[in-house]
Formats: sequence, structure tokens, C-alpha cells
Amino acid sequence: MSDPDAPDVLARLRDLQAADLPVHGGRTLAYVYDSGLAEVDRIGREAVAAYAGSNGLDPTAFPSLLQMENELVGFAAGLLTPSGTAPDTVVGTVTSGGTESVLLAVQTARDSRPDLARPNVVMPATAHAAFHKAAHYFGVEARVVPVGADFRADPAATAAALDDSTVLVVASAPSYAHGVVDPVEELAALAAARGIRCHVDACIGGWVLPYAARLGRAVRPWTFAVPGVTSISVDLHKYGYAPKGTSLLLHRTPELRRPQFFASAAWPGYTMLNATMQSTKSGGPLAGAWAVVQTLGDAGYEKLAADVFAAVDRIVEGVAGIEHLGLAAVPDSTLVAVTTDDACDVFTICDEMLERGWYVQPQMAYAGGPSTVHLSVSAATLASVEELLAALAESVAAAVAAGPVRVDSGIADFLRALDPATLSAADFDGLLAAAGLGSSGDGGALALPRRMAEVNALLEVAAPDLREALMVTFLDRLSRPAYPSAPR
Ligand SMILES: *Cc1c(COP(=O)(O)O)cnc(C)c1O
Repeated sequence: MSDPDAPDVLARLRDLQAADLPVHGGRTLAYVYDSGLAEVDRIGREAVAAYAGSNGLDPTAFPSLLQMENELVGFAAGLLTPSGTAPDTVVGTVTSGGTESVLLAVQTARDSRPDLARPNVVMPATAHAAFHKAAHYFGVEARVVPVGADFRADPAATAAALDDSTVLVVASAPSYAHGVVDPVEELAALAAARGIRCHVDACIGGWVLPYAARLGRAVRPWTFAVPGVTSISVDLHKYGYAPKGTSLLLHRTPELRRPQFFASAAWPGYTMLNATMQSTKSGGPLAGAWAVVQTLGDAGYEKLAADVFAAVDRIVEGVAGIEHLGLAAVPDSTLVAVTTDDACDVFTICDEMLERGWYVQPQMAYAGGPSTVHLSVSAATLASVEELLAALAESVAAAVAAGPVRVDSGIADFLRALDPATLSAADFDGLLAAAGLGSSGDGGALALPRRMAEVNALLEVAAPDLREALMVTFLDRLSRPAYPSAPR
């Protein structure tokens, strides 16, 4: 252990990490959610480390994990069933993230109706892609309903999509892409009238909208206070500001949750008994989330919510003052989707923001809606919101000077005509290379271009199924073993 020649692994780790986006500082407006409170982060990290080896597989072997889970669920149930508005029958499970919460919500709904040959889930077109993943994994039909001009779910169109094989109606609070809350009361009532479950995906809003309401902001009802809402997903690793790896799936009653649980005694080992997709699972993320929630508490979250909404309001006001920019929708929560006019394009703006030290996420045009710059605003963004707006104004000016990225019409026609089902591996490699995502020649490794605008503009032209196939090929080419260069 004390070999002086041993490489300092942790130093190497820090070197490697220098290539990543920063997770603190409020300048990364996607993927990470930053409270801006160093002490909260430290406590979360230490709790993760302290529980890294603990196993959430068996709550009787690690009772502290069960206690922390029940306390987290209790805290969330308090947030999501404001006193006097709903029965206190809510139960829940800590999962590894929003996707797992969504997967389990769909699996639970499916398995509540074993009589159905081909169950379907009815969801607005703005529902998170995790619902498509769930449909794919669990053999459920994803019945997608177009949204209204305001990007909110359309209750009449939803009603028309329901049938006797519908096991779940989905609503978002808010939707990821546009940051608006669906008309949950209408959707849940439609579902309840037919005895169908209704899941509210509050992965984003779950830990921040209850405080928005308390701060006096207008929030349309979406919690268990709404009759007919049967389950809710809430991510702790988003606006709970917890370390990565925790979300909650809550059900209105234990009976509704029951099909989520899995047991198998059909082998010679221990009886496997799981509430989640994972079996052995680290206690780290759960302990990290518990420690952060204990540290911040209700008052801490209310303060962070006040900060994040102050930042959102300032961004909305600032965007209105930048020529060529607009909003896809007035944000109901903490996500802002910014549009442009024809003078520039969102992809170039995102590149220009990165040049200035800000990571913002490009979203491609979809189903007639515009491409947008997506901002996941954190409490930590408030401290530098004026710098953010200045960088945005500069980036727009640079993008206007450069002019919108144009895809050659011949190439666009070619891409639109391609059917991914007919393409060979070599065709895909050729397409990736043409898009600027090819091999760098350095041992076959792929290198991302510094500027992504041209790549994104090309990908946007491709139909969704071709885009998916290209991205899967890209991931395949990225994911190849790195062999040790020297013997150890
Ligand atoms: C982030 C998100 C998810 C998926 O969560 P992960 O933690 O990324 O797996 C699902 N729904 C919504 C609305 C989200 O914002």
C-alpha cells in the first residue's frame, strides 16, 4: 500500500475529471443541479462514501437503509399531499433515478392488469423518453397523443386515445422539453372515470413546485391532492440537490404499489425480494440523499426554491430583452426553453455559450415544434444570472453574424430518404464520418468536434428513427475496451 512508486490514483482521477463539465458553479445548465452550498455537497459526498459498501438488497440486514428510505418517503409524502387535501396512505420507494421510477410505474401498471394481452400507456408527446424505454422494455404499447399549441397535454385527445387496454395515463409536472405542467386534474379525472391509473412525472417539479406554491407562485394542481393521481415520480438528484443516483416513486396506496414488488423463491439460494430493478444496490446514494435532505430541511429547500425562481424570472425577463430570442412557453417551473428567429440557430448559440464557459442543451425540432436552447436552472445559477444573460446576448450576436447553419438541400433530401432498416454497418460509419462523428484515426477512437452546430443541424434533418440508429451506432463505436498500455 505504501509503495512509493505506486501511481497516485486519486490524482489521476482528478486529472481525468478535468475533461468533464463542472458540476458546481452554476454554469452547467443541464445534467447537474447545483444548490451552490459547498457544505451541503460535502455532507452528501461523505454520506455516499460512508455507505458505498452497504447493500440495500436486504432491509433486515441493513436496517439503517430502511429507516432512511422511510424518512425520505415521509418527507416527500408531506410535500406531495398538502395537509387536509389527500389521504395519508401514500407509500414509496427510493430508486436509482427518474428513469427507474418511470420504468417501475409502467411495470406496476402493466402487472396490475395481467388479463390484458396488449396493454397500452397513453402519454402526451411531451412525456419523457423514459416512458418509451419502459414501453420497449415491458412490451407495452406507447400510445402518444399530440399536445396543444401550448405544449400541454390535450385532455380531449387523451380521452379519445383511451380504451379497455389502457393501464396508465401519463402527465408531466413539468415536461422536460418545454417546462410546462400538464392539466393534471383533467387527465386524472379522465383516467379515474375509467378505472385507469394516472402517473404524474414530477421528476423535475416534485421537489421544487410545492415550494413555488408556498412562495405564492401560481402552480396548477398536480399532487396527490388531485383525485385520480395514483403515482408520482420525483427525482432527489435534481431539485432535491442530492448526489446522483436517487429518485422516488410514490403510490397513493400500498395496494397500488403491490405489483411493483418482486419475489422469487424458485431457486436454491436466498428468496430474492426486491422493490426496485436493482437487487444488490449501494446504500451510498440513499444515504447521500438522506443526509442532504436532513441538512437542508424544509426551510433550506424553500430558500433554494426562492433563489431558483428569482433566477428563472430574471432569465425570462432577460431573454425578452435579447433580439432574435423568444420562449417556447412561459415556464411553469425551473426549465426554460428558448427559441430563435430565422437570423440565427439554437445550435450555434449553444456552441458559442460553451466557448464562454456555459453549458446549455440544444433540443431539436420535433413534431412541428421549434428547436430550442434548454436551460435547467439551479439555485446556484442566481449568483451569476447577469453573466449568463450577457453570455447569451453575446452568443446570439455571434450566431447572427455567422448566420444560421444550413444543411445542403441535396444532403437533406438524401437523409430524409434513408431507411435505417436497410443500412449496413459500413453505411452507418460513412454517415457518422460525414456528420463529423467519425473515427479520428487514433486507434479508431472517436473524437467529438469542438463545435457541434453542423452535426446537430444534420441530425435534426434526419427522421427520428434514423437519428436513433445513428446515435446507437455512435455509442457502439465509443464503447470499446481500453487496454492497459503498460504491464502493472
Ligand atoms: C430527468 C427526467 C426523467 C429521467 O430521469 P433520470 O434521472 O435522468 O433517469 C424523467 N422525467 C422527467 C420529467 C425528467 O426531467
